[in-house]
Amino acid sequence: MSVTVVGHPLSEHLLASLRDRSTPPPVFRTLAKRLALALALEAIRDLPTEEVAVQTPLEPTTGRILGDLVAVPILRAGLGMLEAVTELFPEVAVGYIGLERDEASLRPQSYYRKLPPVDDRHVLVLDPMLATGGSGSAACSAVKDAGRPATIRFVCVVAAPEGIARLQADHPDIPIFTAARDRELNDHGYILPGLGDFGDRLFGTE
Ligand code: URA
Repeated sequence: MSVTVVGHPLSEHLLASLRDRSTPPPVFRTLAKRLALALALEAIRDLPTEEVAVQTPLEPTTGRILGDLVAVPILRAGLGMLEAVTELFPEVAVGYIGLERDEASLRPQSYYRKLPPVDDRHVLVLDPMLATGGSGSAACSAVKDAGRPATIRFVCVVAAPEGIARLQADHPDIPIFTAARDRELNDHGYILPGLGDFGDRLFGTE
């Protein structure tokens, strides 16, 4: 299972601003969306395309189109990455998985799940912070329980080694796309150096 660290100068530039504690929520939201766009583009780079007939104003030709996509943001922080995907791919179907971390056990608790059909579709699971990997792994399991997707890809902004190891152990078939592989988790399950609580910074709830 692969980990792709998107090292494009633009994604590094955006990530530096997201990490900056002085970046206020409205700016954080905008930059998170831009970074999600860069990550989503990388995540679909090797998706198969299908040849279709196209009639230009001058003559018939052929083009290539993407297969069906499904985006699954993990609530709530994943919402910060969703708009980038729906803007890039307006036909994308969207499913939601609500998982919150029990702060004592650090284990994910499921409180919501609504998924579109996933059979034969390419699924992008969106969760900005791959920390312990508990939520990410649970979300990927939920997608697999829903049917037989063609592929599943996990897209995040920052990944901790612990989260990568957990996802690799539980779902060796699912590649990870991230803007950074960070150092470690602290005792509270936050990624170091990280960027703090993504949801709080996105929604101004800190
Ligand atoms: N979730 C966050 O929002 N930030 C972290 O550092 C870890 C999990």
